[in-house]
Order: sequence, then structure tokens, then C-alpha cells
Amino acid sequence: MCSGQRVCQPCGNGIHYSPQQLSLRSTRGQRVCQPCGNGIHYSPQQLSLRSTRVSITDLQAHTNYTFEIWAVNGVSPQSPAPQQAVSVTVTTNQAAPSPVSSIQAKDISRHAVSLSWTQPERPNGVILEYEVKYYEKDQNERSYRIMKTVARAADIKGLNPLTIYVFHVRARTAAGYGDFSNPFEFMTNSVPSPIIGDGANSTVLLVSVVGSVILLLVFIAVFVISRRRSKYSKAKQDSDEEKHLHPGVRIYVDPFTYEDPNQAVREFAKEIDASCIKIEKVIGIGEFGEVCSGRLKMPGKREICVAIKTLKAGYTDKQRRDFLSEASIMGQFDHPNIIRLEGVVTKCKPVMIITEYMENGSLDAFLRKNDGRFTVIQLVGILRGIASGMKYLSDMSYVHRDLAARNILVNSNLVCKVSDFGMSRVLEEDPEAAYTTREITGTYQSQGGKIPIRWTAPEAIAYRKFTSASDVWSYGIVMWEVMSYGERPYWDMSNQD
Ligand code: AMP
Repeated sequence: MCSGQRVCQPCGNGIHYSPQQLSLRSTRGQRVCQPCGNGIHYSPQQLSLRSTRVSITDLQAHTNYTFEIWAVNGVSPQSPAPQQAVSVTVTTNQAAPSPVSSIQAKDISRHAVSLSWTQPERPNGVILEYEVKYYEKDQNERSYRIMKTVARAADIKGLNPLTIYVFHVRARTAAGYGDFSNPFEFMTNSVPSPIIGDGANSTVLLVSVVGSVILLLVFIAVFVISRRRSKYSKAKQDSDEEKHLHPGVRIYVDPFTYEDPNQAVREFAKEIDASCIKIEKVIGIGEFGEVCSGRLKMPGKREICVAIKTLKAGYTDKQRRDFLSEASIMGQFDHPNIIRLEGVVTKCKPVMIITEYMENGSLDAFLRKNDGRFTVIQLVGILRGIASGMKYLSDMSYVHRDLAARNILVNSNLVCKVSDFGMSRVLEEDPEAAYTTREITGTYQSQGGKIPIRWTAPEAIAYRKFTSASDVWSYGIVMWEVMSYGERPYWDMSNQD
């Protein structure tokens, strides 16, 4: 800023600007221009600039700004002539939106909920979509689901009853996703929504009736078809039909119905190259050999901790078959409360089964080690997880037969997973089993067939009626084990008692 021939000087505070020397106004969307307020910063400063350059920071994203630049000299404040300003309008780029802050739930039922939320306080652009992330509270974020929607609402289905879910919502603009909202929690109902009577929904009623008729026809068709099949590979073929007729419903296939059980292993378990596995230490002794912890690094995947079950040297063909049958069974399951099979090593020795690693080992020992340290809610959370895994198994028509705290594994997040899928075959194979079950003296009866007496339902002990209902009995014993921090069922009473 110069006056006459003198050297340039800053003007100081004696000069007055009307309305101001440099003014900024913004337009957001369709709104009228507003003065920008104090949130914006100028470098080197807003007023009394001597150079023709100023940097402005802390502007809002996706907003129109009009800048007016006034040139003033020493007489400007006294000049009666209107002052001339240069104005320039710019639009700032879009940015990621601020987090969604208010989430509401309505129409909560056993398996579904309708969520709605308000737009982020600062959308910072055009919201292209919202992403809803949700998971069961006691599973943490280890297994979450994602749903995307352009609306500010979503119908979330397929939830488990009486379960606490955690939801987070975030918005996306052309600049990317904003941060997730704070967690929003709620619990699903235990009462089914009414189908008939007050509150009944006619669409639900219609769908239910049509669904039931279709289901009935499907059952009749399955029954008629399955009667015509030969005995060999019956289970496998039935399950294929089931899959075909009920898309999405999977039925467990007993690997022992395969003429060649190796075929079942190939079908249900991934062969892993032994060079991908690093064995670190022995963590337990299984029925067929040592159980170790270690690491698995598959090409293109990140390294993970795994448990490695080995088949001890000198095994017979039958032992190898029995050992690998557990992998063929486990490989058919995919549930957060069932131990996950990573794969098998069968092409070299030792033969190995690789599963996810459960840092806290088996539940019975874990409870005894932590006697009295958990809240009732945590203990019930443990039981809820086991129940969820067992429900999945029964939905797949799999009967476990050996549900007990010792066969539940616990990871570092206290998530419990059902394991040990070796028992389902033991009694089937033992011709003496009906007899031995009546001659009970040990913890597990020997003479071939072994039954965990204290965990087994009376009808299963008496006449080998193992069903999902007898698994429920065992679940009751597990409930007792958990709430008593791993006490032995029936304390020191004998098996006979
Ligand atoms: P099992 O043969 O399945 O009864 O395993 C024997 C022992 O090895 C168990 O009692 C556990 O202590 C340990 N174990 C088995 N599988 C795992 C696993 N996936 N993670 C951690 N420990 C395991």
C-alpha cells in the first residue's frame, strides 16, 4: 500500500474499512450467503495486507466462498466515491463427511430391526451412500456384517433373538467414507412378531401360508425322491437335493458315508502345503497325537496363529481315517462359535489338521484358572455363544454327542467355540456299545464305546438315542459347569450313582 513517492509502509490501525478490507462470504447448498465468522484463518493476516497474496485455511468442504478484495489508500475513508472491490467466488472440494450422530431403532423383533439416522452434521459433500456395520456385542468386531444403503434408514434382518447387537453407521461422499458413528446398541426380542390376531401383518400372513405350503411340497418331494435312492452315498445325495431344494440350507454330510473317506477330506478340507506352517510349541495332547501352536502363512494372505493337531507316527489306516474325519466334519461348518478349520496336511508326514488358534485353551481349565473373576453377565455371554454354535450344528442336523466344557475352546476375546468333532462316530462303530453303556463304571466307559456319562442324556446312555435333544441335555450340564467355574458335574459321586 503506497502513498505519493514515499516508501511503502503498512497502513496501521488509523485507517477504517467499510464494511471491511477483505470480506468472505459463503454459500452452502441453496442457502443465502453468510459472513464467515471467526473459524477461518488468514496468513499472513486478514486486514492491512501489503502484498497481493493471502492464504486462507479452515474453510468448510463443498462450500461456495466469495472473496472481496478492497484496495485502499490514505484518503479512502474520506472519499465520497463508492469504493470498488474485486470479488472472486470459489467452491471448495468435497471431503469425507462427519460421523452420523443420531441413530434410532424401531420395529424391533426377534430377528430384525429398522434403523434410521440423521444426516451427518457436516456432510462435506453429496452423500452417496451410508454403510451400516453391525455385530453381536459379545463377538466384538471379529465377525461383523456390513449393509449399504442410499437412504437414511435400513431394515436389518437375520439377527439372533435376545442378543445385544452393536451398530455403527458412516456416510460416504465422493471424497470417501467419514468416521463411523459411536456404537449404538440394542437387544433383539424374544417374542415372535404376531402372525395372527392383533398386530398381524397380512403380507406376513400370506407369505407364511404360501411358505408353509411350499415347504410341505418340498418335504414330500424330498421324501419320495430319497426313498428311491440306493443305500450307498445316500447321505451325500440327500444333502445335494436338500441344497438344491432349499437354497441356503446346508445339511451336514457324514464323511463315513463316503466309500472312500479320503474323498470327503478332499471335498471339505483344503490341502495346505507343509512349508506354509511353522510349528512353535506343544500345547496339549489329543487322542491321536500332540497338539501344537504355530503360524500359518498362505501365499497372498497374512500370517495367522493356528493350532496344529498331529497324527502320531506308526498310525494304522483306520486311525488316519478317524483322525482326518474330524477335519471333514469341521470343514463343513462356518459359524463364529464353531472352531474354524484352516486345512489339512495329508501329502507329507506328520499328517496334520490346522485350525484357528484359541489363546485361552479349553473352557473347563480356563474357568478353573479364573475362579470367581467374571460377572454373571460374562458367564451368561459364554453360554450364549456356546448355545449359538450348538443351534447352528442342530440346524445342520449334526449331533455332537460330546458337548462338555473341556470341548469348548476360548479365544482372547472370551469368545467360546465348540470343538472336538471326533465323538459322533465312536458309538456307531462299536458293536458292543449298547451293552457297554449299561455297564458304567468309569468317567468314560471303556470296552470300546466311550460315553461321557455325566454329560450324557439318560436315553442316550440307556439305548444310544443321541439326538439334538440329548445335546441339549449336555448343554444343561455345561451351563452348570460354567456357572460353577468348572466344578465336576455331580462332584465326587460315582458314575454308577
Ligand atoms: P483335542 O484333541 O481337541 O481335545 O485337543 C487337546 C488339547 O489341545 C485341548 O484340550 C486344548 O488344550 C488344546 N487345543 C486343541 N485345539 C486347540 C486350539 N484350536 N487352540 C488352542 N488350543 C487347542
